[in-house]
Amino acid sequence: NFQKASFKDFENIPDLNAFQRAEVFQEFTNYMEESGQMNFRFMTSKKGSGPEMWVTSPFNKIPKKCVSLVSNDYLNFTQHPKVKLAAIEGIEKYGTGAGASPLIGGHHEYHEMLQTKIASFFNRPSDSALIFTTGYTANSAAILAILKKEDVAILDMAVHASVYEGCKETNLKMFLHNDLESLERILKDAQDKFRTRLVIIDGVYSQDGDLAKMEAILNLTKQYGGFLMVDDAHGIGVLGKNGRGAMEIFGLTDKIDIISGTLSKAFGHIGGFVISTPQIINFLKFQSRQQVFSSTSTPAAAGLLKAIDLIDEEPHWRQMLADNVTYFKKGLTDLKLNIGNTESAIIPVKIGDAHKTGDAGRLLLDAGIYANTIVYPGVARKNARIRTSLMATHTREHLDKALNAFEYVNQKLHISSI
Ligand code: PMP
Repeated sequence: NFQKASFKDFENIPDLNAFQRAEVFQEFTNYMEESGQMNFRFMTSKKGSGPEMWVTSPFNKIPKKCVSLVSNDYLNFTQHPKVKLAAIEGIEKYGTGAGASPLIGGHHEYHEMLQTKIASFFNRPSDSALIFTTGYTANSAAILAILKKEDVAILDMAVHASVYEGCKETNLKMFLHNDLESLERILKDAQDKFRTRLVIIDGVYSQDGDLAKMEAILNLTKQYGGFLMVDDAHGIGVLGKNGRGAMEIFGLTDKIDIISGTLSKAFGHIGGFVISTPQIINFLKFQSRQQVFSSTSTPAAAGLLKAIDLIDEEPHWRQMLADNVTYFKKGLTDLKLNIGNTESAIIPVKIGDAHKTGDAGRLLLDAGIYANTIVYPGVARKNARIRTSLMATHTREHLDKALNAFEYVNQKLHISSI
């Protein structure tokens, strides 16, 4: 009976081997697709990332031009002519691949330049940054190397999956999302039990778009002798007067023990990075399994050198994004839709019921709007939503088309919950 099942139920099925389990899972995904609930998979786009995408869905096999509300390419730097040119020049100069893992011959001039630039972007000494293949591995590989079984990771429960992945070899405690009392209880209890207490939060939370209560969390962490790691994947390049992220909004950029970020969102490429003390960075170069056993960026990453400069050279992209966010949030709120506490370019439309959310996603797609439906286990069971994210290059026409579609969906399905 697949009706009440979720993806999580198939992570493990007693008595079935891995191949049998995959067969049952195949039947489940077929059911999901046939019953119209799977509008978040098999979306293929004929063109790259942009405010419009050509989307082929499981319901309508014909490619259709939609307004895209799914991208984290917030400043649309994947399409910026100067970024593209720098990437092409990188390939021409260095070839197409790194050739080896960083520690054993795969660390090249462009990697070094990128690390220096990222460190200087955060006003830190040049040996304070290390790049990883993705933001996911920056989190998972760094935490795996830093925390051992005598240590503890204390996570805001809404942190990204990659952080959880990094905690597999250490002790794990979770506090309620942005809840200071819950955090303090854990910090107090952990004080004498664990050697290193590393509190890990996101700058911007990826499902709700809300910000961490960073200052209060930092103060509490320090009060109990802990360290703070902030994954600011969705903030860096986008938020703060100078685009230094959620940390800049709170004036804490210099005070965070470990910063992690991605190169795949505001910077428009792929890769991740960690910023910390030169000693932690040196430790990770040798002790993080990913640095030792896996190659990092290709020379196309030279595009990133330009993209990072553009954060300072062309601040208007950030302003355009901020204006779009203000406009779209007002439009959704005027429709009496529930957008929660977002303070970023991630704007959820909270619906609650998973089936209604699936229906809403499909109606939006029919109306030419591609937005993600997020259901359990992505969020709690009763917390399903349509998640939208905006780009600097969305025009008012794009946003009005999306707002009209949300109005239509609300008339049909009554998704308004305020
Ligand atoms: N952290 C957060 C908060 C994220 O949302 C994501 C990506 N969704 C990542 C890390 C991983 O980044 P990447 O896509 O570069 O692996």
